[in-house]
Amino acid sequence: MSGAPDAAGATLTIDLGALAANWRLLRDRAAPAECAAVVKADAYGIGLEQAGRALARAGCLTFFVAHPGEAIRLRAELPEAAIYVLNGLPSGAEQLFAAQGLRPILGSWPELRDWAAFCRSENRRHPAALHVDTGMNRLGFRPEEAARLVADDALGAIEPTLLMSHLVAAEEPVRDVNARQIRAFDVVRATLTDIPASLANSAGIFLPQRPHHALVRPGYALYGGNPTPWTANPMRPVVRLEARIIQVREVEGGETAGYNARWTAPGPRRLATLSVGYADGFLRSGSAADGTGAAALVAGHPCPVVGTISMDLTILDVTDAPRAERGDAAVLIGDGLEIDEVGRRAGTIGYEILTSLGRRYARRYLDEA
Ligand SMILES: *Cc1c(COP(=O)(O)O)cnc(C)c1O
Repeated sequence: MSGAPDAAGATLTIDLGALAANWRLLRDRAAPAECAAVVKADAYGIGLEQAGRALARAGCLTFFVAHPGEAIRLRAELPEAAIYVLNGLPSGAEQLFAAQGLRPILGSWPELRDWAAFCRSENRRHPAALHVDTGMNRLGFRPEEAARLVADDALGAIEPTLLMSHLVAAEEPVRDVNARQIRAFDVVRATLTDIPASLANSAGIFLPQRPHHALVRPGYALYGGNPTPWTANPMRPVVRLEARIIQVREVEGGETAGYNARWTAPGPRRLATLSVGYADGFLRSGSAADGTGAAALVAGHPCPVVGTISMDLTILDVTDAPRAERGDAAVLIGDGLEIDEVGRRAGTIGYEILTSLGRRYARRYLDEA
């Protein structure tokens, strides 16, 4: 625990047992493929070290981070894990990668050439992944380059341990782009044979085509996000966020609340002020006056946020939770208020809710039961 709950305005509870259970569910779903874990961005905001340790205890052997700095932090926790760096090989970082036993994900000729030159200089084939871009147009070799890759000396100088691509819209299985990417990746695999392949993120694991190949790379679903947004969430919630009510007041119809007087009470209302705000990652874009914005649960009653979310404070209409009083908790994430919905209500996605989770919260980690 970092910070006593009473010293902070809000408490973030992270259930590492649920995280481990989610990993096991995805592992079983994807078997016989290996199930890795994507722990970039501080494990989607829940804490890289804590998540890494819990996942490794559950049996996870392979991890993906975005930056070398994240990889170094993870390596300090997990001396044996395979750690891939999604954002590739920065120029001049070869020695660092090798010393830390990190695997760069190579998606361009300059990266491949640098890694190959380094391997030759050390007379040793260091492991790395090859990234082929089948539709994102972001990182990776073009599929047409597969033939050139096979023929290139550089490939023989390194040890390619993974051939990967990334799905554009796996959470929308009706989109044609999924089938197009799966086919394009099949063609690449037929050229670059013998390299274990990986295509699926969280939602990709649930696609009807089951494009699991050798290894799946879930992130979001591990942390409780819904990998099947068209239906009920099969994952367990990992994150719970509770803020304290610090004042309750009655207002008359016609009075306004919050900055710029953007909300006007339609009649007598009971308002509660929470000690949480946009500086905590409780996104200001959740301030909507029409009922589609952010909400909280007070003693189980859904209560809308009213007025504009401030830096450190948020106002709730608790008229429907009549017993709400100072010191009570308002649940901002949890008790059925899922991160997908919290994201929707802030005009964004649950991923951004997780990765915005603030640094001011008192954090409680629940260990595996
Ligand atoms: C972030 C990321 C993932 C994990 O995606 P989720 O949708 O969070 O499961 C997998 N692969 C790559 C290349 C990524 O960047």
